[in-house]
Amino acid sequence: MQADKKILAALALTTLAGTVQAADEVVVYSSRIDELIKPVFDRYTAKTGVQVKFITDKEAPLMQRIKAEGENGVADLLITVDAGNLWQAEQMGILQPIESKVIDANIPPQYRSSSHAWTGLSLRARTIVYSTDRVKPEELSTYEALAEPNWEARLCLRSSKKVYNQSLTATLLEAHGAEKTEAIVKGWVNNLATDPFADDNAVILAVDAGQCDVGIVNTYYYGRLHQENPGLRAKLFWPNQADRGVHVNLSGVGLTKHAPHAEAAKKLVEWMTTPEAQGLFAEINQEYPANPQVAPSKEVAAWGSFKADTIPVEVAGKRQAEAIRLMDRAGWN
Ligand code: FE
Repeated sequence: MQADKKILAALALTTLAGTVQAADEVVVYSSRIDELIKPVFDRYTAKTGVQVKFITDKEAPLMQRIKAEGENGVADLLITVDAGNLWQAEQMGILQPIESKVIDANIPPQYRSSSHAWTGLSLRARTIVYSTDRVKPEELSTYEALAEPNWEARLCLRSSKKVYNQSLTATLLEAHGAEKTEAIVKGWVNNLATDPFADDNAVILAVDAGQCDVGIVNTYYYGRLHQENPGLRAKLFWPNQADRGVHVNLSGVGLTKHAPHAEAAKKLVEWMTTPEAQGLFAEINQEYPANPQVAPSKEVAAWGSFKADTIPVEVAGKRQAEAIRLMDRAGWN
């Protein structure tokens, strides 16, 4: 997720020159790569004439920048992934609520902030990936069961530094409390086949290559790899179908506290939750539409349906600090 230096420079110049921005534009700070959001914005501009300017960077610098710019801020919207990150932005005080019947009707409540500070735009499940050579799906059941001794030296995980794993652990904390969650996470660490990887792709490729038998990954990484290589020796499994369901997280958007074009930005967010935008938004990255009226892509639909955890995903933020401390205690690097 590299910053587009050119757009960044252009935006900075505009600001420095004190140019009065036209009302028919929206400025977006986005931690999602250009290819994932540009087609959506282009469609909106073609439809409405509203220009959408955006810069991309990692979420932490974008959030810091919005905070530092304060009342002179140029960003209207912050787009990022994971409820853990959106919750951080909310805690930093850089967002303002969007009250919208359109959004409330289009996006289920568990995928929105209870204070209306942000809403999900697309969904991803963080689920189990298994080796089709060495594991039968009947051997799998829950995230918790991956802590059992029969998975010793067979599990691959991504680093605990990644917010995705912090959010998953936060939801375990919500379901089980601290003591049981720590025992589960310690079990996972005991079962590692190798040191945690830097990204989800590496986990899937390690399962495919036989380095490990099971892992935990976000679905769209699997979708991309599987599209490139339909012969992948790895499949997705939906855990916890007899209890709370699969952990689902999101990409989402928040309106900045000092948005110069708040009304125009709200209209763009509302449009992004409609079927027209949702299909596009989810298809590009093999994610699930956050609007349940919209069907997923063919690749995504082929993985089958599953019961998702209905816990409000903002719990990922609320218990993030606790989750990080627990993962550290359990020795998950
Ligand atoms: Fe990702």
